[in-house]
Amino acid sequence: MPPSTPQFVAGPQQARLPYPYRPEVEVVDAALGTLRGKLDWAAVIAAGRPWVEAVRDKPAPFWAMESLLREYPISSAEGLALMRLAEALLRVPDVETAIALTADQLGRADFDAEQVTDGPHRILAGLSANAIALSKKFLPGAEGEGGLLARLGSKTVVAATVRAIQLLGRQFVLGRTIAEAMQEAQDQRKALESSRRGTKDAGNALRFSYDMLGEGARTERDAERYLASYQNAIAAISRGQVAASPQTADGISIKFSALFSRYEDAQRERVFADLLPRVWTLIERAAQANLNLTIDAEETDRLELSLDVLDALAARVARSFPLWGGFGLAVQAYQTRALQVVDAVAEIARKYQLRFMVRLVKGAYWDGEIKRAQEGGLAGYPVFTHKEHTDISYLACAQRLIAHADVIYPQFATHNAGTIAAILQMARTAGAAFEMQRLHGMGEGVYREVMKDEGVPVRVYAPVGEHRDLLAYLVRRLLENGANSSFVHQLADNAVDVQRLLASPLNPGRPSAFPLPAYLYPADHGKQRRNSTGADLAVIADRAPLEAAVAATQLRAVPEATGAEVEAAMARLDAGHDSWNARPVAERAAIVRRAGDLLDSRLAEFCGLLVKEAHKTLGDCVAEVREAVDFCRYYADQAELRLAGEVLPGPTGESNELRLGGRGVFVCISPWNFPLAIFSGQVVAALVAGNTVAAKPAEQTPAVAARMVELLHEAGVPADALALLHGPGETVGAALTAHPLAAGVCFTGSTQVAKIIQRTLAAKDGPIVPFIAETGGLNAMIVDSSALPEQVVDAVVQSAFRSAGQRCSALRLLVVHDGIADGVIEMIRGALAELNVGDPAFLATDVGPVIDDEAFGNIQRSLERLGREAKAIGASTRTTAFPRLVPPCAYEIPAISGMKASGEIFGPVLQVARWNGDVDAVMHEINALGYGLTLGIQTRIDSRAQRLARLAKVGNVYVNRNMIGAVVGVQPFGGEGLSGTGPKAGGPHYLLRFCAEQTLTVNTAAAGGNAALLAGEAGGH
Ligand SMILES: Cc1cc2nc3c(=O)[nH]c(=O)nc-3n(C[C@H](O)[C@H](O)[C@H](O)COP(=O)(O)OP(=O)(O)OC[C@H]3O[C@@H](n4cnc5c(N)ncnc54)[C@H](O)[C@@H]3O)c2cc1C
Repeated sequence: MPPSTPQFVAGPQQARLPYPYRPEVEVVDAALGTLRGKLDWAAVIAAGRPWVEAVRDKPAPFWAMESLLREYPISSAEGLALMRLAEALLRVPDVETAIALTADQLGRADFDAEQVTDGPHRILAGLSANAIALSKKFLPGAEGEGGLLARLGSKTVVAATVRAIQLLGRQFVLGRTIAEAMQEAQDQRKALESSRRGTKDAGNALRFSYDMLGEGARTERDAERYLASYQNAIAAISRGQVAASPQTADGISIKFSALFSRYEDAQRERVFADLLPRVWTLIERAAQANLNLTIDAEETDRLELSLDVLDALAARVARSFPLWGGFGLAVQAYQTRALQVVDAVAEIARKYQLRFMVRLVKGAYWDGEIKRAQEGGLAGYPVFTHKEHTDISYLACAQRLIAHADVIYPQFATHNAGTIAAILQMARTAGAAFEMQRLHGMGEGVYREVMKDEGVPVRVYAPVGEHRDLLAYLVRRLLENGANSSFVHQLADNAVDVQRLLASPLNPGRPSAFPLPAYLYPADHGKQRRNSTGADLAVIADRAPLEAAVAATQLRAVPEATGAEVEAAMARLDAGHDSWNARPVAERAAIVRRAGDLLDSRLAEFCGLLVKEAHKTLGDCVAEVREAVDFCRYYADQAELRLAGEVLPGPTGESNELRLGGRGVFVCISPWNFPLAIFSGQVVAALVAGNTVAAKPAEQTPAVAARMVELLHEAGVPADALALLHGPGETVGAALTAHPLAAGVCFTGSTQVAKIIQRTLAAKDGPIVPFIAETGGLNAMIVDSSALPEQVVDAVVQSAFRSAGQRCSALRLLVVHDGIADGVIEMIRGALAELNVGDPAFLATDVGPVIDDEAFGNIQRSLERLGREAKAIGASTRTTAFPRLVPPCAYEIPAISGMKASGEIFGPVLQVARWNGDVDAVMHEINALGYGLTLGIQTRIDSRAQRLARLAKVGNVYVNRNMIGAVVGVQPFGGEGLSGTGPKAGGPHYLLRFCAEQTLTVNTAAAGGNAALLAGEAGGH
């Protein structure tokens, strides 16, 4: 960093935008209102029609992505296979994996020449289909396989496929280096000039904004590399000269996520302290050269943050470069807050008397935003769910940008002919200066026509990079070209007539196209289970109540139960069983469901308790409360569905009925690592099945449990059906499990304690009682060389270090293919260095302390041993002063079997082993460890993932994602072997294990004869 670089300090966060999750109809209708009387859509169609017709008269060549996708849409198996290959094949380093991947993807699709329909490309398309169909013949598993010839053939086909994907990718990259890209830009400008017969300003009409391709930074080293490449690009673009105007000169687009691995709302202070000085070095260079520098728009959870950052940078720009008009950013119209973003940007410009260049886009992360909202149980979607709504919003934002012409130079990025025609109409009516923008490789046909009007300047967004860096971008473009709703896709489809293609989107708003996240789960047997309510920690309105609750929480002491109290409680619960069990299932279910609803409404209170007592981070607390709510609602539904009993078939003259009910007093013993979710899950399952419950929470976390028991009583669970018995395992736990009135035991905790309980139960006289145990694991993640290292490292960091590694599902052993191991290990080292370890009450903390001194001591001893026996990879150094912090760390071990010596280290400690690629052998070695809880698999070879899952003796397998955070009713959780007895928590078979079963057979013919049969009724029941 040069010494002149100013420091940036994050001030208090300002809420500049409204709540993102307002009803979609309202938001759209408001946007629509701003457009009333502003657009003549008949004129839009009249302007757009000739462009569309001209493009359709001169279709794209057969090798262009549009053509390929028309033949093999992404909704088809073939299209999907192409996408998967495009995403992964170029990065695979070894021949074996490349062959396996190609065979896997081409093998599952049906690239058949016969399928090619009529149309202008019939012959060419047929040829390409034939080529692919032919390729299949040479791949392993296809007909004609055999010996060396087939192997050579395979390599040839793989090489050909690699080349085909390179060709596909090249359509979207202007050059591999900035110099190459600039040369290409120059050639395109010359071509335009000559087509305009030397018109003087033709050069100015075609501008470029260069984008340096790559995945987002995961480490400081990545960020440094991107910074250098941006600096290098700005130097190259300016060529040491000062441009006449940023509006007519080429410029650069930058992504904050490339310049800083922690560009997140929760890392606000570090964003200001670390990212902004980097951005400033780019701004300085761009401003000195008078170029346009645009900040790309990324995911919604950074939207508020991006405005604060803009404000801070603008303040500095106003001081250092008050006359520079090249600073800008992209605004996404698909955001429900888009109009307010435009206003907020204009306000910042006015505040500092600057003029920004603002690029209006529709938005590139739509599918991801919808998924994030559903996963998080958020109050709604932050983006529109109907394409038409995004179009309305785009036009409303365009209108607003034009209205802010004094402080904004608008840049309209779209490939949609209808949108372009509407923008031209609006801008010209207002007499505003503006430019249009397109992506390199997209919208070429439409803009060829649009640019026949010499008054329309166009800037091309021009990605620069090598093949390896292109893949994520290429997949985005495949999706954009392939989506049914997208304009470019429909333009390439002659079946969509022009009138429909250019139809006005200006219609009244409609409700969300998808159920809101609260109603995600479809009705099951006529009942809808409501999803638990989450919180968007990046939105102040959602976060503030949680932070206030944390600050206000005081833990209260929970008295330990004496031996006499245990005795009394067991007697009382036993006495209470008959009446509780006699209640109809629906009544018990209603009480448990009510408890879920109460808990759902007390998210903040319970988050406060969890932070203070279990030292969890806020994100983990929200997830835990949600899990407990889901348990209540799910088990209530399951009870009604499965415990109502059933009539069984049999011979005539008798009736047969199966009835299910509680067994008596169930002892539930839960751990401190999920003091609310596991505690509640066990207790409500036992209760709803008709048992009364003696609940023993972990010694470390009685306050959370006590509050939950109060809540259950408030919901209607009688006092003699549920009792909290807090105290040490050795006394209270032992007394409960050994108690003659205990009719069953449900336990979650260590394998060691599970064994003790098992022996206690075996040694006990009296009835043989069921034992449900869920214990730990030596959980592994297997990564082959087709996996994306950045995705792997994200999954590793979440799985191994979240909750300070104190989850039974946590990743303990990473097994990485030799071909990519060095790179992945290096990235893990860098990612570890970025984790903040400290007080969990701070939003910025990633990893809090371990639970108590004993746990801390155990981990330290394991670390000492690993320090001697393994090779240290790295550890987090961003540690603040707080008790019992264990900085997350990773070690490389020579062999998987080495894990046996470690056992389960219940903390943020990861061990890494290298793998030669033998699929069966690796699974055999992992199975031999004896545990069977969770397994992660990272591969793009679907058949390999399936094979590994089949061979794995584990309860939960996760492919290409993290391996923690099982969702109730979605990923029922629990293992086998040393990891537990089953059944799975949050699954359809759980409640049955808590039940006693009874059949009732009545001889209906006993009283004299078989009246039903004689009356002519079929069957005897
Ligand atoms: C120069 C340039 C720069 C860009 N920079 C960025 C950037 O910084 N950040 C960014 O996010 N994107 C960026 N993009 C990508 C851009 O978001 C997409 O290319 C654009 O959305 C495609 O819009 P269109 O008008 O060309 O196509 P259209 O087909 O008219 O619109 C497609 C868009 O509609 C939206 N959409 C699709 N289905 C639905 C639905 N069911 N409900 C609601 N909305 C839906 C999506 O945003 C989708 O991308 C940029 C694009 C260009 C041309």
